[in-house]
Amino acid sequence: MKLLFTKENNPTENRVSITPDLVAKYQKLGFEVLVESGAGVKSSIGDSEYLKAGASTSADLSNLLKLADIIVSIQRTDFDFSLVKKDAIFITKERFVRDGINCFALDLIPRITRAQSMDILSSQSNLAGYRAVIDAAYEMQKITPMMMTAAGTISAAKFMIIGAGVAGLQAIATAKRLGAVVCAFDVRSAAKEQVQSLGAKFIEVKSEEKNDGVYAKEMSEEYRKLQQQLLKDTIKNQDVVITTALIPGKKAPILITEEMVGSMKPGSIIVDIAAVNGGNCELTQAGKSIEIGGVKIIGHDNFPARVASDASKVFAKNIFNFVDLLVDKEKKEIFINREDEIIKTTLSC
Ligand code: NAD
Repeated sequence: MKLLFTKENNPTENRVSITPDLVAKYQKLGFEVLVESGAGVKSSIGDSEYLKAGASTSADLSNLLKLADIIVSIQRTDFDFSLVKKDAIFITKERFVRDGINCFALDLIPRITRAQSMDILSSQSNLAGYRAVIDAAYEMQKITPMMMTAAGTISAAKFMIIGAGVAGLQAIATAKRLGAVVCAFDVRSAAKEQVQSLGAKFIEVKSEEKNDGVYAKEMSEEYRKLQQQLLKDTIKNQDVVITTALIPGKKAPILITEEMVGSMKPGSIIVDIAAVNGGNCELTQAGKSIEIGGVKIIGHDNFPARVASDASKVFAKNIFNFVDLLVDKEKKEIFINREDEIIKTTLSC
């Protein structure tokens, strides 16, 4: 069985879907590992490391595509699929459909306990939350912790995190570690305890309407008005606002209006992790950093790729755990078990 890991072609995609330590594990499953030359360079992994680990590397993508039984890419899909074996497997991040091949979309991994080790959304959101805080601290002309010096006391920076899911909780933890004063907001009631356990203040909408589910749902117009007022009152006092709010299957909710941005002090920073899903701030431009009235709005379209080395490490492990599901261990051959919930949900064609 031949397993191919390709090089990405999006300029902001610095990650790679295999790390050298996994080559031996794939071989144990019965795979020969092929890596397109240069695939790991942006994650600080050279071809020589893959070769040392026992993989083959080649720059001849057409030939690699002809050989592969399974092809893995993160977001590159512009391959010449006419070269690919019939019934080959293509594993990528997002839903993809092409005649004659089996496509798996890892964004569709169900959030069940057994699938946690394959959950790319969680592994990458966690790092996105971390990186968003680092980006904010870097852009800000203010330090994050409180400092008492002979020349006076410098106050700690105030961070607000909107959305306390996987990315938001890591953003809270990172901002706390840097010494910021942190508050956070989420529509889910369960988030309160998690936010408080990290030492941040939970900002609450005073409403009877509750969101007790594991995932957020769209709230009523009345709740949204109360939420807008609360955000308006809180945001104007913050140095940094990091937004992570998403509703599964929907465009990101707009939570920060132009008026709220206008109320912030010059030098304040908004980091919109939801930028790629439409953004939580109405002024965010995906893939860009802009400045309006002295407020910087950072809308990178790929936060995990800004810490590519570690993002690749966990992404590659997620992929390994998924590929492991596709192998009949006794026969050492590929087997797509359509009864398996994880396989059923991710098989997009
Ligand atoms: P997500 O990326 O879908 O959304 C981010 C956060 O934004 C969520 O906490 C959501 O409640 C919040 N949000 C949505 N609309 C909002 C609004 N208008 N205002 C403020 N906040 C808003 O979330 P996620 O990181 O995927 O996590 C969602 C849930 O899934 C969490 O409860 C998490 O613990 C759980 N989870 C479970 C598993 C698993 O069981 N395998 C894995 C990951 C996450």
